[in-house]
Parts: sequence; structure tokens; C-alpha cells
Amino acid sequence: MIDIQQRLASQGVHTVLAQFTDMHGVAKGKYVPLAKLPELIETGAGFAGPSIWGTALPRTGARAEYYARADAGRIQPMPWMPGYARAVCSGYVDGEPFDACPRQVLQRATARLAERGWLLNTGIEPEFFLLKHEAGQWRPADDADRLDKPSYDLKSLPRQAGFLHALHDALARCGLDVLQLDHEDAHGQYEVNFAFDEALASADHLMLFKLAAQALAEERGMVFSMMPKPFANQPGSGLHFHLSLWDSSGRCAFAPASQGGGDLLSPLGRQFLAGVLAHSPALCALAAPTVNSYKRLVVGESLSGTSWAPAYIAHGPNNRTATLRTLPGRFEWRLPDASANPYLATAALIAAGLDGVDRGLDPGPDCTEDLFRLSPREIRERGYGLLPQSLEQAVDALAADAVVRGALGDTLAGEFIRLKRMEWVEFARHVSGWELQRYAATF
Ligand code: GLU
Ligand code: MG
Repeated sequence: MIDIQQRLASQGVHTVLAQFTDMHGVAKGKYVPLAKLPELIETGAGFAGPSIWGTALPRTGARAEYYARADAGRIQPMPWMPGYARAVCSGYVDGEPFDACPRQVLQRATARLAERGWLLNTGIEPEFFLLKHEAGQWRPADDADRLDKPSYDLKSLPRQAGFLHALHDALARCGLDVLQLDHEDAHGQYEVNFAFDEALASADHLMLFKLAAQALAEERGMVFSMMPKPFANQPGSGLHFHLSLWDSSGRCAFAPASQGGGDLLSPLGRQFLAGVLAHSPALCALAAPTVNSYKRLVVGESLSGTSWAPAYIAHGPNNRTATLRTLPGRFEWRLPDASANPYLATAALIAAGLDGVDRGLDPGPDCTEDLFRLSPREIRERGYGLLPQSLEQAVDALAADAVVRGALGDTLAGEFIRLKRMEWVEFARHVSGWELQRYAATF
């Protein structure tokens, strides 16, 4: 411990950000002087439990205190904030791991994999917008970003090269292997990719990415947005997960025994995939957890001709129109959007996949068609299920799914369902500009 303190001091650190993640996937925390690092690692920094979303902790007594305890292996200077180091924390209450802490939820899920000798690697791909808020309007920060088909736009990308390079540099100095940075398919939308890692590390990395991107965008007068669908006529922001299981000998358990047989996944991989398909409606609540998420998960035209977001429960080789895109020895889960809590989404996915393995589920035949072109009748004939079309439907599916609820644990499942139902009701009762426009003078 003293070693860590000394190392940080020699790097110019005077303060540690004790950072944890709440139910909504939002980073929370407080500053702790470097001298107090031993206590942060041994006991944790104390917070009023009920002030944190999703804890359901009481206002009095021993269980009123939420302790964010630092993971000694995850403490690093934040290059964009000289003098400060980020310590990734997990929640403890009354001296025990707190069952409703999202990071503990994921640690429980990865422990279930470890019992079977497996490790899950995830590559999480954040898409995001850089926006500005002026005269009551949200717009892309870059006024000149206007191409009809903005994917890979090399006219607009250089205008954000300063921000993107600062972000790249910050992540790289935190040890992330940054792979690519590009302009995505909407105005003001970008994607940054970094190398896959073990599932808990990847979720921690995503939170680091959000912290860095938010700070660096703000410095430049922009708003970093992980809102799933800011503009109705343009694609939204996905948070695709690439997934593969590995065994204790370092072998990819999703890779087929022989190459060239035409199979992309092993029988185990297919069962895991089938579990994810079977639980897709409930997984939606965690992977697409906002009212706005369901404006993304629809088949619809966008400015660029497609939304690239899934609407049907199907899987297919390199099929970007399906919920699951299969690739050699791994699959891409295209359901999650940028607002998903990476810890909860991964934990729920593990529970779904393991259920597929335990029940020996079969994912059915590959879908090789362009699902965005099929009519509703053709979708029905082929038997593809439709993903929930609203937060309300997704939360109902979660409430009805004991396997996915089980991954969260009783406290968090109860709080998640209660708070998300409130979010839906609040939205439903809100009278929007669209309604006034359409109805105010109509009847
Ligand atoms: N932005 C799309 C989505 O909402 C994904 C685009 C892509 O395939 O990279 O999922
Ligand atoms: Mg993308």
C-alpha cells in the first residue's frame, strides 16, 4: 500500500478521486487526500447510502453508510487532471460487499464464470455525440458537420482532432490500448475503440473513458453526450459489446474445434448465444435503460438511410441488422446503447448466457438476410421476436424474468424496476411539444 502511495506521490498526485458507479451508470465519488489512501483501500470512503441511486439503504443505523472501497489494482493518475488519481471503488455496507453495488453485481457474475473455469472478455465500443446547447436547442457542437451520409466523414473529423487526440492520449496514458477513432453515422457523432479486456476491467475502462471524455469536451466548450438518440432523424449511439469466453488454459471456449467447418462458434458458444437471445426482452431493460433508448431500437430510415440498431431478436454471421452478429470465436451484442450501465449490462448478459448453457439451448438457424428490408409479415413468417418497443415493455420483461433479475439481486432488481417504472410514468405524463403542435388547435 505504501508502495502505491509512494508511486502516486512521485507522479505528482496529491488527491485521489474515490469513484464508484451508481445504478444509472453514472460515476460518483469524492476527493480523498493521498495521505488517506490506506483507509480508502482498507475501509473505504463513506457516503450517505440513500443519496445514491438504487441502493435502497435506510437513512439511519449501520446500514445507512455506503463505503466506496478502492480496488488497489485500479488506482491511476488522471492525465487530464494533474495531481489527481482515480481509484475505482466497489460498494461495502456494514463491512460486507454491498449486494446492490453495480460493480459487486458484475463481480458476482464473473465469479460464477470462474467457478466453471471461464473468463469473459468484452470489447465495449462507445459511440457518443459532441453537442452544444444554445438558445434552448441541442445541436452538434460542430456547425459545419452536415454531410448527408456522415459515416467516416473526413471533412468533419479533423475539426475534432484536437479533442480526439487529447482523449486518445489520456486513455493511452492510463494503459488503454486505443485502436481507432472515427466519425460515426450522425452529425456530431464519433466512436472510440480500445482493446478488449476481462469483463470487469472493460467496464472500469468504459467509466474511465466517460470521465475523460466529459472533462475534455467541457474544456473545449462542448457537451459529451451518451444519450442514446439525441436526434430523431439520425442514428443513435450504440455501445456494442464483443464477447468471448476463455478457459483456464487460455483457449477461446467460443472458437469451434476445427477451423473451416463453416461454424463460427463452438457448441458452448452457440448455447451461450441462445441464452442471450432467449432473455433479450429482459436484457433490454439493462442494455437500453432509458425512455430515449427505444427511439433507437426501431427499424427506420435515418438521414443516412439506416439506423444500424437492432429491432429483432436474431443472430447471423457478420449480420449488423441482427441483435447478435456472429464472428469467428466471438459475437457482437448490438443491443446496448450508450446509456447502459456497463457493469449491470455485462452481469445480466452473463446470467442469460449461462442459462443458455445450463439448459443446452439452441439458437436456431443463422439469419443471413438484411432484416431492415423485411416486411413485418416476413419477420413473423421467419419467427423472429421483436425487441421491446418501450422502456415500459422492457421493464415488464425484466420483472417477469427470474434469471436476469437474479443476476441483479433482490435489492437492485427491486430498485431498478421501481425507478425505471417511475421514469416511464413521468415521461408518459409529460405533455410534449409534439402533442401541442399536433392537437392544440386541431379539434
Ligand atoms: N449507431 C448504431 C447503433 O445505434 C451502430 C452503428 C455501427 O454499426 O457502428 O447501434
Ligand atoms: Mg459504430
